[in-house]
Amino acid sequence: VYSKLPNVGTTIFSVMSALANEHGAINLSQGFPNFESPQRLTDLVCDYLQKGYNQYAPMPGLPELREAIAGKINLMYGVEVDPGSEITITAGGTQALYCAIAAFVRPGDEVILLEPAYDCYRPAVEVNGGIPVIYELKAPDYKVNWDHVEALLTPATRMIIINTPNNPTGTTLQTTDLLALQHLTLGTDILVLSDEVYEHLIYDGASHQSVLRFPGLRSRSLAAYSFGKTFHNTGWKIGYCVAPPELMVEFRKVHQYNTFAVHRPTQHALADYLQDAATYQSLPDFYQQKRDLLLEVMEGSRFRALPCRGTYFCNFDYSGISDEPDRVFAHQLITEHGVAAIPVSAFYTSGRDERIIRLCFAKTEETLRAAGERLRKV
Ligand code: PMP
Ligand code: GLN
Repeated sequence: VYSKLPNVGTTIFSVMSALANEHGAINLSQGFPNFESPQRLTDLVCDYLQKGYNQYAPMPGLPELREAIAGKINLMYGVEVDPGSEITITAGGTQALYCAIAAFVRPGDEVILLEPAYDCYRPAVEVNGGIPVIYELKAPDYKVNWDHVEALLTPATRMIIINTPNNPTGTTLQTTDLLALQHLTLGTDILVLSDEVYEHLIYDGASHQSVLRFPGLRSRSLAAYSFGKTFHNTGWKIGYCVAPPELMVEFRKVHQYNTFAVHRPTQHALADYLQDAATYQSLPDFYQQKRDLLLEVMEGSRFRALPCRGTYFCNFDYSGISDEPDRVFAHQLITEHGVAAIPVSAFYTSGRDERIIRLCFAKTEETLRAAGERLRKV
């Protein structure tokens, strides 16, 4: 009787990782690297810890780090962002997303979600009294028809949540998509929450289409980012939110009482580390090699790869192997073949099941080759 989220259970990521551990399976389910964060960055964190930077950081985050982020945004997207009023450092992308939703979604407001979607959006909307309005995208290309999105808009629409590069599909939104979204929201007071935690994980020479590049979107958008994805340390939980001053004021009202500030030594370390742009500019190549290795080791298997243009996830259609629902198949994959994957139906509210699993390739070459060997036998 007390639950505000009666339909929410344990996340699929915790469930599959626990199963993988229980059965000693190679874990390509939950998204995290199985290699270390760069040594220089870890050393910097240790230095700052030892030098005594151990009391509260300023509520919006260390000014040095926000300045370094503004520099990175300028370099990548050619836009000026004011570090004082437009950037807040958060406890990972998750807290940025939560605060953005909590700050703006009122009871009865409708929030448009494009599914399959990362799993933290819907509960955050619901716990704040919002109503998720779901638009289902379909394999293999998960293309957004913006006319269909437009048809979902009502006077109660408060927010549209987008995610590019996309978890779990590995697809990316193109300039035409963002222009369509910009056009759709023009003259409305609909906000856009743009989950861009995989901004640096984009392949084949493509460039990330951030909402920050589009003036008509930037003025109504909150964008969420994560250093965990960028520098291979998902356990550190440092991210940030970028939004225009009038939105950031409201965002900070929630952030300051939701956590106030986040881990200070890490913020100092990241501020120093970001001075060298090569630290993040090398990421597309680094991960593209891993994507290509996964595709290579899966050749000769009965799985059919779906296109992967970004993120560290690649999806595989297993309908040539089994008719079982994807949760059953993923379970069998662990217990009978020793590899853990995520069933993509977990990302649909409806449980839509297209017989597809998601594999994480943020793994060492050795792990990917070992997984391939097992999966080729399925
Ligand atoms: N959004 C997406 C799409 C993600 O995949 C993740 C991480 N799995 C997050 C947000 C959360 O990022 P963080 O771990 O920095 O909280
Ligand atoms: N984002 C990661 C994934 O998609 C998982 C994060 C988590 O476990 N909460 O696998």
